[in-house]
Amino acid sequence: MQLGKFSLGIGDRFSHQGVAQLRGVIKANNAGLEISPVWNKSNREHIYVHSHPADVRKEADAAVAALGYNGKYFVDADHINLTTVAPFVETADFFTLDVAAFIGKESPEDDVKAFVDSCSKYLGELNIPGIEHPIEVSEELLVKIAGKFLAATQQASDIYNFLKDKKGVGNFITEVSMDEVESPQTPVDLFFILKMLADKGVPAQTIAPKFTGRFNKGVDYVGDVEQFAKEFEEDVLVIDYAVKEFGLPEELKLSVHSGSDKFTIYPIMANIIKKYDKGLHVKTAGTTWLEEVIGLAVAGGEALEAAKTIYTNALGRKDELCAPYADVIDIDTAKLPTPEEVASWSSEKFANTLRHIPGHPDYNPNFRQLIHVGYKVASEMGSGYTDLLKKYSDVIGTCVEENIYDRHLKRLFNL
Ligand SMILES: [Zn+2]
Repeated sequence: MQLGKFSLGIGDRFSHQGVAQLRGVIKANNAGLEISPVWNKSNREHIYVHSHPADVRKEADAAVAALGYNGKYFVDADHINLTTVAPFVETADFFTLDVAAFIGKESPEDDVKAFVDSCSKYLGELNIPGIEHPIEVSEELLVKIAGKFLAATQQASDIYNFLKDKKGVGNFITEVSMDEVESPQTPVDLFFILKMLADKGVPAQTIAPKFTGRFNKGVDYVGDVEQFAKEFEEDVLVIDYAVKEFGLPEELKLSVHSGSDKFTIYPIMANIIKKYDKGLHVKTAGTTWLEEVIGLAVAGGEALEAAKTIYTNALGRKDELCAPYADVIDIDTAKLPTPEEVASWSSEKFANTLRHIPGHPDYNPNFRQLIHVGYKVASEMGSGYTDLLKKYSDVIGTCVEENIYDRHLKRLFNL
């Protein structure tokens, strides 16, 4: 099973927007791009919205059937580990093995020694084609890298072997993710991580490192753009070299867990993958949910009232809702509007405040981030929320499709 050159991870908290999301992807394919949709949902999300991994498969299959789509598509068990993977086994065909928690865990001394010995040919100056400066590789550096990543890659191998037994070789896509950590992995880290994965027989098709900068949920990139560009380009070159050097799958590519809406760096990534003719997987976050709230606001009347209620309730429970996302949101409380202010807003004002149009005078990233983490509020509304999704599906669907195509895919692939 092969993922293909370009793929887009899309999330859908309440499983009502599969068709609209796929319409956005098809629009890009009609514009000349060949990109596969990957519906992803993590265990954490399933717990919050009381959904089951099988629901994602149902949604994906139904969307594909409804639109007569005949391209490839996948269902991603996002950020799973050995304890959470079981319920995803049957219905997912893409598994994101999250091994971040094992970074820095101790490995048996013999394993560290065996790894360091196996790298002897890289000691001294390591030249990676395309990267200007050679990398100085010492035994000390190798020991340090082993101390950081050997246990994590072993964990990836354990999860992969579990899945291989259950699903059979070649019947699923393997992604290895290390993005949910504080400090970014450097290109040299990545090179040796890929060696470890190859040594352990993990046929990763995508790898998700932590990049420099902040990837907050649903808002733009914050960080050193030049440094990001340099790192991203070097990672692309490292992967190209590692595939040849270690015999990893030809199609191995970077997976960017974007947290959505990294509009500043989309064109940078686009230029680099074009320059080297490489593939890319970009995971968006659950911002489709934000398009639902925008759609409700646009619809007006009771739907606008519901959108306002969601904000007011989320504001009242801000600390609780933000806690699980503390590392990936930055909300300036002083810039959040009061419920009284919001109560007086028109459809247009609410939608423009929430919708991510950089430079729009009404756009408020603090408001947007709070609603982003507020999906638990909507989930608790039960059918009071999902009935509105059904009733206003046309206007919401238009928002969802436009978001995927116009704001994401067009920017990501220069369409
Ligand atoms: Zn991630």
